Amino acid sequence: MCAMICEMCGKEVPVTKPMMVEGTKLNLCQNCAKFGDEYKQTNSPSGSSAAPVSKTVIDERLQRRERRMQTKDIYSTTTRELIDDYGPTIRKARESKGMDLDEFAKSIFERRSILARIEANELVPDDKMIAKLEKALNIILKEDVQSGGAVGKGNQKSDGMTLSNFIKKE
Ligand SMILES: [Zn+2]
Repeated sequence: MCAMICEMCGKEVPVTKPMMVEGTKLNLCQNCAKFGDEYKQTNSPSGSSAAPVSKTVIDERLQRRERRMQTKDIYSTTTRELIDDYGPTIRKARESKGMDLDEFAKSIFERRSILARIEANELVPDDKMIAKLEKALNIILKEDVQSGGAVGKGNQKSDGMTLSNFIKKE
């Protein structure tokens, strides 16, 4: 029995399905068919009747697909998270400005007891508080974290990072 070869991943499979991928008809395995669109038979004049796709074309497609997946992966797992030692960082910055906790609390209209607990790393400040502290003390309390599958702190807010930021870094 003659097996068919998926023109995207190159795997030998019992059945392939014609699909449209980026404007080209490819015979794909069930797995790869997800990446294509339904193939519709049209009588286009340019229809080079089913020329076999060369190995290099398959390789190129594979690479392109891999890149696409990697990019997506990085994008979806990068978050800005509060640094671990936010408390000491805040306290040091405050002390370097010569303020005691009372003065500092008054200057940003927050309760002293709350700030004391934050400085002791006992209370995790919310986004609003973090922004306030960063501005008041001219410090940065968040860092970019790129970790696969790390559970976020329920803080899914995007901060303007876009896909192109990552692509340009390469
Ligand atoms: Zn395949």
